[in-house]
Amino acid sequence: MASLDTDIVVVGGGPAGLAASIAAAEMGAGVIVLEKASTTGGAGNMGMGPFAVETKLQRKRLVGLTREEAFKKFMDYTHWRVDARLVKAYIDKSSSTIDWLEDMGVEFFDVARYFPGSEATWHIVKPATGEPGPRAASIMFRLMTERAEELGVKIIVETAAQKIIMDNGRAAGVEAVGKDGETVHVKAAAVIIATGGFGDNTDMIRQYLGYEWGKDLFSFRIPGLIGDGIKMAWEAGAGESPINIEVIYGIPGLQDSYLTDVPFRQPATLWVNLAGERFINEELTENTTWTGNALVIQQNRCGFSIFDSSILKHYQKNGLDLMSMVHPHVPLDKFEDELQKHIDEGNKNVFMADSLEELAAKAGIDAEGLAETVSEYNRGCASGEDMFYKRKKFLKPLKGPRYYAGKVYPGGYGTLGGVKINHKTEVLTKDFQVIPGLYAAGTDACSIYGDSYVFILPGNTMGFALNSGRMAGENAAKYKDTL
Ligand SMILES: Cc1cc2nc3c(=O)[nH]c(=O)nc-3n(C[C@H](O)[C@H](O)[C@H](O)COP(=O)(O)OP(=O)(O)OC[C@H]3O[C@@H](n4cnc5c(N)ncnc54)[C@H](O)[C@@H]3O)c2cc1C
Repeated sequence: MASLDTDIVVVGGGPAGLAASIAAAEMGAGVIVLEKASTTGGAGNMGMGPFAVETKLQRKRLVGLTREEAFKKFMDYTHWRVDARLVKAYIDKSSSTIDWLEDMGVEFFDVARYFPGSEATWHIVKPATGEPGPRAASIMFRLMTERAEELGVKIIVETAAQKIIMDNGRAAGVEAVGKDGETVHVKAAAVIIATGGFGDNTDMIRQYLGYEWGKDLFSFRIPGLIGDGIKMAWEAGAGESPINIEVIYGIPGLQDSYLTDVPFRQPATLWVNLAGERFINEELTENTTWTGNALVIQQNRCGFSIFDSSILKHYQKNGLDLMSMVHPHVPLDKFEDELQKHIDEGNKNVFMADSLEELAAKAGIDAEGLAETVSEYNRGCASGEDMFYKRKKFLKPLKGPRYYAGKVYPGGYGTLGGVKINHKTEVLTKDFQVIPGLYAAGTDACSIYGDSYVFILPGNTMGFALNSGRMAGENAAKYKDTL
C-alpha cells in the first residue's frame, strides 16, 4: 500500500479537476490529482471550447452580451429551478477564467454561436494546426497539465479513486487503486470530486435517466466515466442533485461521416415519426437540444429525416442552408455513393428508395401516414403555409425520383449532475448541511440547466467545469488554511 499526504486531493484530471488543482496550487496548497485514465483532459479533449461572457475577445469581435444579460437569459431559460447563486458565481467568473487560461498559453481562435439565435459565448480554442474543429480544446488541457506540474501538483495517472475517507464528519482523504492493483491511500485536508459523470455506465443511465443505451439513446461514451465520484460522494453523505443528460441527436453510425450526416440536419428536410407524422419545425434541427427533446417524446424515441434528389440537387447547386463549427460544409456530389456505402456496410439507420412507399417499407414508417404527411407538406410548400410555421425559403416539396432517410435518435455528450453542492462548490447533505472538506465540480455537480441544456449560451458544460473547478480549488485552499 502506498501512503501519501497532501493538502488537497483532486479526483479526476479533466477540465474541472485540472482547473481545481491549478487554482489551489496557485494559492500555495499542496495538491495531488488522481486520474483514472492514462492521460489528463477527460471528455474535454473531445471538445472545442468553453463558455464565457464579457471577454476581451468578445469585445474585439463586437459581441456586446453582458454578464447581466447572460444571467437573465440563463435564468429565464431554466425558469429559476436551478441554483441562481451558483449560476451567478459561474457567469461572473467566466471572463477572468479566459484571461487565466491565456496566461497559461492557451490561445482562442474565435468566439462562436452554436446555431443562429444562440449567443457568441463559445470560446473556440486554437489548436496546434491553427484550424479549429472537433477536439480543438485538447491542447488547452495539455497546457493546463503543464501549468499544474510547474506549480508542483503531483498528477498520478492510471489510478482510480474508490472511496472518500471520512474523519469525524469531515473529508480527510481518498482511497484509490493504482496501476498495478495496489491500494493508494491519500491523506488530505480537503477532497475535490471531479470525475465527469456516468456517460459510460449504461446501468446508471437506465436507472437515473430511463434510457436503454444502444436502443433509444446513442450518446458519447467516454471510457471510464462511470459515476465513481458521484457514488463516492453519496457514500460519504452527499445529497443527490437533479440528474440529467445533455440531449442532442444523431443518426447512429454516421458520427464520423459529415458527408452523409450533415445533409440530414438541414432545414429543408422533412422529419416524421414512426407513424409518418411530423413533430418538429425542421428549422429547429440546428438546435440540437430542442430537437433531442422532441425526439425523446416520440414512439421508440426515434424520428426520420427525409429529403429527395430534387432537394439534394438544390443543395448541390446552392450549398447547404446550415453549417456550424461542428457540422461543416461538405461537398455533396458524392452523397448518394457515400450513403450507399453505409447501407452496404450494414448501417440499419440510413435508407435510399425510388418511391415513398419503398422508403416507408425499408425504414419501418407507416406508409399511409407518410403519404398523407408528404401530400400535406407539399401543398404547404406550394402555398407557403406550414403547420409548424417553417419559413417559406426552407419549404421544398418532396417529389423524387430518389428518396433518402436517416433514422434519428437522441444522443448526448455526457450526463449532468448527481452531487449536491452550493454556490461555493461545497458538497451538501440532503438536508443542505455542508460536509466539511468535501467539494465537487464539473459534470458530477452540474445541475444548473434544469430540464434542457442551455445551448443558447454555448460552451456551457466545459465552461461550468473550468469555472466550478477553479472555485472548488480556491475554496478548498482557503478551507485548509482554517484548519
Ligand atoms: C464530443 C464532445 C464534444 C464536446 N464539446 C464541448 C464543447 O465544445 N464545449 C463544451 O462546453 N463542452 C463540450 N463537451 C462537454 C465537455 O467536454 C464536458 O462537459 C467536460 O469535459 C466536463 O469536465 P469534467 O472535468 O467535469 O469531466 P471530464 O472531462 O469527464 O473529466 C473527468 C475525469 O475524471 C477521470 N475519472 C473518472 N473516474 C475517476 C476515478 N475513480 N478516479 C480518478 N479519476 C477518475 C476521468 O478519466 C476523466 O479524466 C463535449 C463533450 C464531448 C463528448
